[in-house]
Amino acid sequence: MRETTDLFAEPAEPDMPAGAFSVPRSLVALAETAILHRDPERFALLYTLIWRAFRGEKHILEDAADPLVRRVQLLAANVRRDIHKMRAFLRFREVEEPEGTRHVAWFEPEYFIVEANAPFFVRRFATMRWSILTPYRSAHWDGETLRLGPGASPAEVPDDDRLAEYWRTYFSAIFNPARLKLSAMLSEMPKKYWRNLPEAEAIPDLVRAARARTDRMIEAPVLSPPRPTRRTAPPMPPTVPGALGALAREAASCRLCPLWTRATQTVFGEGPGDARLMLVGEQPGDQEDLAGRPFVGPAGQVLDRALTEAGIDRNHVYVTNAVKHFKFEPRGKRRIHATPDRAEIEVCRTWLDRERALVQPAVTVLLGASAARAVLGRAVTISRERGRPLPLAGGRGIITVHPSYLLRLPDESAKAREYAAFVEDLQAALRLAGGG
Ligand code: SF4
Repeated sequence: MRETTDLFAEPAEPDMPAGAFSVPRSLVALAETAILHRDPERFALLYTLIWRAFRGEKHILEDAADPLVRRVQLLAANVRRDIHKMRAFLRFREVEEPEGTRHVAWFEPEYFIVEANAPFFVRRFATMRWSILTPYRSAHWDGETLRLGPGASPAEVPDDDRLAEYWRTYFSAIFNPARLKLSAMLSEMPKKYWRNLPEAEAIPDLVRAARARTDRMIEAPVLSPPRPTRRTAPPMPPTVPGALGALAREAASCRLCPLWTRATQTVFGEGPGDARLMLVGEQPGDQEDLAGRPFVGPAGQVLDRALTEAGIDRNHVYVTNAVKHFKFEPRGKRRIHATPDRAEIEVCRTWLDRERALVQPAVTVLLGASAARAVLGRAVTISRERGRPLPLAGGRGIITVHPSYLLRLPDESAKAREYAAFVEDLQAALRLAGGG
């Protein structure tokens, strides 16, 4: 072991190049985050921490009482929080350029996080052309290459556009006055970010009106009156009159998340508007995307067969998806299904919530984990919760597998077993809805 205090003075080990040394991987990860802080002492703090690890304190990070460790961990925690805020509160606006639409966002991070956060936005918005502008750095993505540039000013971001309008509409739609907790809202969405959030414009009015809306919600009946008989109804055509049709037409131009950019069209739900049974899947597949109707591809055929065996007429059921646009990865000429992420499910839920509010089904069947997350607002383990009635606002729910899961099973006996269990779950839903 050398006696100098210079980490880079000479090789740490005889077979290492000059300036190279080794410290625990967890320390490297901590240093990579903490160094993004603005604290001018961060370099000295990190140098000392690494020096101590190098001098033999290999487990120094396990000593939570060490003041140096605590200080560096606090820096890293602040940076991680800033990274999270940027992901949550960044809002793109549309700019038309000769090459096509560019999405531009302005954000003021507290720390030097743009470089560390850019790969997240590349993954998240891989198919969009976008620029993120901040006072110290800008990041630009053209669909293939990420470029980092100098800082910018807010004047370089367009003032207003359709995306901003969607954020305002979306926030107003999900705002629940009965759950208004101003302090929690301010800690989740600090006021300093409001000026860059289009939906924040709606907050003062929504808060002022919250009391009156809450009173109206309390007075309104929670359960719809029982429907004495089920009626036969044909499948809903693409253009239907009434509130569901108006909602479908509204959703047809939805741009709330980037999934619309590559899909053919919004695939809205279909079925009678007073169905006692609603089936919720994950998202349209390749064939549904082209046809504009839910469950018409291979998984839809499995579903149709299982519904028939369960004694359910699909014409009596409202069928929809948690996410209304097809998410896929191109592979050659094929479009391979990609699972919608939590944020996409959360944003698209505005349509599902409004469909459910209009149809008011007695029983909602949640086909797979994405549907369950959309309706229940939490992650579920299908094998643990399937087949059991769950309380839902205005009705009940039953979780089961998605029919595409049955198609993916490799061996025939597992397929037969799982298919029979799927039919049983549908029968349980029918009984719960008072139809079997
Ligand atoms: S997936 Fe849903 S939220 Fe996203 S654009 Fe389509 S309809 Fe809108």
